[in-house]
Amino acid sequence: MNQETPIRRESAVPTAAGATPMMEQFIEIKSANPDSLLFYRMGDFYELFFHDAEIASRALGITLTKRGKHQGEDIPMCGVPVHAADDYLQKLIAQGHRVAVCEQVEDPAEARKRGSKSVVRRDVVRLVTPGTITEEKLLAPSEANFLMSLGRVKGGADNAYALAWIDISTGTFRVAESSADRLLADVLRVDPRELILADPVYHDPELRGVFDVLGRVANPQPATLFDSASAAGRVARFFDVATPDSFGTFSRAELSAIAGAVAYVEKTQISERPPLARPEREENGASLFIDPATRANLELVRTLSGNRDGSLLKAIDRTVTGGGARLLAERLTAPLTDPAAINRRLDSVSFLIVETRLGEALREVLKGAPDMPRALSRLALNRGGPRDLGALRGGLEAARLAGEALAGAMLPEDLKAACETIAALPSSLADHLHRALDDELPLLKRDGGFVRAGYHGELDEMRALRDQSRRVIAAMERDLVEETGIRSLKIRHNNVLGYYIEVTANHAEVMTGSDAAKARFIHRQTMANAMRFTTTELAGLETKIANAADRALTIELGIFEKLVAETVSHADAIRAGAAALAEFDVSSALAILAAQENYCRPEMDDGLAFRIEGGRHPVVEQALRRQLADPFVANDCDLSPEESGRYGAIWLLTGPNMGGKSTFLRQNALIAILAQMGSFVPAREAHIGVVDRLFSRVGASDDLARGRSTFMVEMVETAAILNQAGLRSLVILDEIGRGTATFDGLSIAWAAVEYLHEKNCCRAIFATHFHEMTALAEKLSRLHNVTMKVKEWEGDVVFLHEVGKGAADRSYGVQVARLAGLPEAVVERAREVLHRLEEGETSGKAERLVDDLPLFSATVRKEQPAPARDDAVAQALAALNLDEMTPREALETLYRMRELAQKSP
Ligand code: ATP
Repeated sequence: MNQETPIRRESAVPTAAGATPMMEQFIEIKSANPDSLLFYRMGDFYELFFHDAEIASRALGITLTKRGKHQGEDIPMCGVPVHAADDYLQKLIAQGHRVAVCEQVEDPAEARKRGSKSVVRRDVVRLVTPGTITEEKLLAPSEANFLMSLGRVKGGADNAYALAWIDISTGTFRVAESSADRLLADVLRVDPRELILADPVYHDPELRGVFDVLGRVANPQPATLFDSASAAGRVARFFDVATPDSFGTFSRAELSAIAGAVAYVEKTQISERPPLARPEREENGASLFIDPATRANLELVRTLSGNRDGSLLKAIDRTVTGGGARLLAERLTAPLTDPAAINRRLDSVSFLIVETRLGEALREVLKGAPDMPRALSRLALNRGGPRDLGALRGGLEAARLAGEALAGAMLPEDLKAACETIAALPSSLADHLHRALDDELPLLKRDGGFVRAGYHGELDEMRALRDQSRRVIAAMERDLVEETGIRSLKIRHNNVLGYYIEVTANHAEVMTGSDAAKARFIHRQTMANAMRFTTTELAGLETKIANAADRALTIELGIFEKLVAETVSHADAIRAGAAALAEFDVSSALAILAAQENYCRPEMDDGLAFRIEGGRHPVVEQALRRQLADPFVANDCDLSPEESGRYGAIWLLTGPNMGGKSTFLRQNALIAILAQMGSFVPAREAHIGVVDRLFSRVGASDDLARGRSTFMVEMVETAAILNQAGLRSLVILDEIGRGTATFDGLSIAWAAVEYLHEKNCCRAIFATHFHEMTALAEKLSRLHNVTMKVKEWEGDVVFLHEVGKGAADRSYGVQVARLAGLPEAVVERAREVLHRLEEGETSGKAERLVDDLPLFSATVRKEQPAPARDDAVAQALAALNLDEMTPREALETLYRMRELAQKSP
């Protein structure tokens, strides 16, 4: 996220002095929208001027031209065709730009009435920003598109923070309290496309670190948007209620965040209102807290390099609808902490595992189900078309069929509730859409032809008239051919002339040769090879056809508006119905996952157990299978308190490099996350007392942009864990203290384990190469030594990937280095150094290493004696690059070798 804001906040707006009237208008509108690129409508194009044109031409790879001069300088210009604007918008938004769409808001004829030099009135009708898009083309179906708003008010000694987040494309609206120290974690959990906040908050040095990480996602706005004093009124007006108290009690910070979101929607959507749900409050602690580093390192929804492939989400996603995929992602990013709620979700999955046929029927229905909330939003925002109405018809039908599929079954609680929601969907709307809409629907309403025949009497009449007239024209053409004897005569149509009679130039004489002919065939146009005419009958018919088509379209548009209004009036029910369908999709997808991948139902309660039998890493397991590698080795993990014990245990994990320590650490964290999101888990058996906070320190990377070295990052993350982890937390720590001198590192790791054991008292797994630490198990009662097993075989190490009791005595680092392809000389030298060091450790001579060891060059010479001059064959052999040789070259070389051998004494 850490990227530079691409548009300068104070974009270079030129001054208006000496501008043409049109440029004057442009500059005025641009001045009101300095931080957006201005799409200025001119005919069939959106044009960009000045600095905007330069930015857009670079960003879109389109030609920069110029148009006229301003204050003696050329005006840079570029443009995009209106019909393809969505594609260009998508590129700009993806690069973090914001766009103000400025349309002509009056008929050019009106402008001309004010004088020939008057400029058509234009206005910005919408601001397109990453957090406020609704177009199908701009949105990924399986990803939510959140706009988040940060509210902050003075509350006692400290500031109180709250976050509100909405998805305009679906209507979701949530709010929760936050605090300065968990702000970043809370924002990253939701992963918004845009975070709006008051200017002074953005510039608060205390929060600098947060906004540095968020980069261009953070979008400061005038503080008035978030004003908590007027917030309640603003929110009440938006939802058209007397007071927002009717949807719950909100703190002042929450109201400020909600009001900010609402105000920004008003600011960007100008006169349109998306059908937002009423804000729903998320209770503090209802979801598992995962700090930002842990979230990133565990690669929940994307990998560290930003890809979806390789993430946990990708590995477990078996959903078949966009809504289902979004709900699954939401559950994965915010696992629950209430065992009862988790168990309800697990009940749904269990039910669909047993009722396989039901689950399959449900998935069949869902597969074709369109995305209702997104279509609804577009319709409400006046950006929808007939296909959006069609999507609702299809969605409502899918809901009905899903309800039918589940009817009569003894459903678990959550599925039952979802069924009830579906039953409450307005059947009248579904019927109406069926009756009114044709089977095949055009994309744009202005193309007409979407209302079903038989639905509206007058519309049918007008269509008949229009179609009939077309038949009449065909007959007229036949008659004219007969009358004139010109077999090639045609009646054609274009937008300029309307209907006309066309004959080739060599037949023109027939139409113009006599006065009678001249009176009958009215000349319209002469082309190079043809002449065009009309007749009074043709002109009359044309008017009739045009009128009928116009009238038909007007009627269709009227019907469209009515259907939209009726649909939008059921917005709440439709949204709830869509959520129920998403719930079906997620539950059946998790059932399929569990069956396909052989997952088990975890036993969940509010104790402190953490007992996993035969646990596997969900992503690595699938990857190994894809690579046709050896199957994943399942491992147990038990961090549960001893009987009658009050605290969970800590496992100190030692073992060779590449032994599978990191994999084991992560798999246990991922199992906890999967279990708490309500999924079965990759294990033979699992019993987990819900975790309230999950911390990890796995993998290390520099954060040079923020001036932190690898070791510094490691220490900052470790500090956060030791300062925050509590009784119910789960902590996984990988190789603390590796980035510094051995003794410093060992001391820090040592002290950290003691602190976790004595102060944090949490469940933890601590992987380390400092084998000295295994001695701690004698002193710390809840610390257990476990190790990744290996076998040595003919000097090589074989990784068994098996976790067993006990401690490793060595890391096999040198063997692993050899496997990695370090030059043999280095490997041998390392072996020797290691040997001396180990000897020294026991005899207390380690510090004399440099004196004791022979020089490296001496060793190399010893290890790789240069071939004797007379050993020419060996020399030639050593120089061969066998991999690069063709069979023929090999044979030739063999002959040469024999020659050499014969020559040698
Ligand atoms: P290092 O100490 O060098 O960081 P490590 O002990 O953390 O190594 P991992 O990175 O966890 O080792 O694992 C190394 C490789 O071993 C993984 O890429 C994975 O393919 C494989 N592996 C790990 N665990 C298992 C397992 N249980 N079953 C099969 N293969 C495994």
